[in-house]
Amino acid sequence: MADRYRCTACGNLTRFDVVTTRRTRAFHHYTVGGELTIEDEEVLDERVDEVVCRWCGHGAAVERLGDGAGAPVPDPSRAS
Ligand SMILES: [Zn+2]
Repeated sequence: MADRYRCTACGNLTRFDVVTTRRTRAFHHYTVGGELTIEDEEVLDERVDEVVCRWCGHGAAVERLGDGAGAPVPDPSRAS
């Protein structure tokens, strides 16, 4: 599930530049001729470094939306 963002300055919910650092392990499958096919790529670690609002040009007012955004999430504290 991808993270969602909101710019509280302009209300933008849909346009962001996101800089991500990703560490992956993958199977590099070469042909005898040296042509590479990357298979079975697995994300070991992923970190979002910067989120910039496309309309404002900066990320000062961008916040990440919580789990409740998009899909309803059961709230254990309200279970009786
Ligand atoms: Zn904005």
